[in-house]
Amino acid sequence: MTEVIDGNAVATELREEIADRVETLSAAGVEPGLATVLMSEDAASETYVSMKQRDCEEVGMDGIHVELDPEASAEELYGTIDDLNDDEDVHGILVQLPVPDHVDEREVLRRIRPEKDVDGFHPENVGRLVAGNARFKPCTPHGIQRLLAAHDVETEGADAVVVGRSDIVGKPMANLLIQKAPGGNATVTVCHSRTDDLEARTREADIVIAAAGIPEFIDGSMLKAGATVIDVGINRVESEDGSGTELVGDVAYESAAEVAGAITPVPGGVGPMTRAMLLYNTLKAASLQTGVEIDL
Ligand code: NDP
Repeated sequence: MTEVIDGNAVATELREEIADRVETLSAAGVEPGLATVLMSEDAASETYVSMKQRDCEEVGMDGIHVELDPEASAEELYGTIDDLNDDEDVHGILVQLPVPDHVDEREVLRRIRPEKDVDGFHPENVGRLVAGNARFKPCTPHGIQRLLAAHDVETEGADAVVVGRSDIVGKPMANLLIQKAPGGNATVTVCHSRTDDLEARTREADIVIAAAGIPEFIDGSMLKAGATVIDVGINRVESEDGSGTELVGDVAYESAAEVAGAITPVPGGVGPMTRAMLLYNTLKAASLQTGVEIDL
């Protein structure tokens, strides 16, 4: 029987721990605050930002939300970031990506003070992650690392295949898995759209992380018996009965579950962990910025 890796359950536990630490900080006069900035009318981006704000409320953090007209100038966005950088009540800043084409995304990421960069995308934080001295681990790969640990999936010595090499998922995931640290010490292969014979690689893997953004791309025939399969994909597709749309992952769940030893569902796998790790990073940011120590 395949073990279902329940991201909702692990994230709920983590959120409870975070709420507890928020109380500790509050007692010391610190109210952790996360600022989200939205410069887009994209429905998915709006939903993500409102979920992040709701998550903050639930664990007792202050949520500050700034919305900019997508037609506004890049300078206006940079000015907003500068103000949030200077605001002592704001410990974490998240600019919802993507930003409009006339804004330089790299400049946005550079502009956020590294100490407040709770997404972990500032070049300084990327460098620290690669060097094995992470300040903020990016939320999705960090959430996956936690999920694997919560389900006692041994990464040390494991052959891991990461399908996808994006800056937000694939690359940091591979970096975490190769670190000489708990949750690392794996032998990692990173695959992408130019990879030759992907199946041959996934079939050798003890752990497969699917982050290609292609619906049901990885099926059971591409997996080794007993492998752990982490499905990062969130793809909206027409539902089979034609009644509307539904969310599917990058893994063909039914077929993969017949072969895998453990697997994450979509929804309810990686998604809730990504959200929880943003709260974790905001908590850490508040602790680092104020010098109030908490158990993390
Ligand atoms: P990107 O589109 O930025 O990256 C996709 C990666 O997949 C690229 O590296 C691309 O290769 C690779 N790829 C594309 N086609 C193939 C192929 N045929 N074979 C092998 N590799 C391929 O996506 P993201 O990393 O941002 O996201 C990936 C998925 O995860 C999406 O579905 C997204 O919605 C989801 N997601 C889910 C999150 C969660 O919390 N659950 C959080 C973030 C993302 P190349 O570089 O060569 O183009």
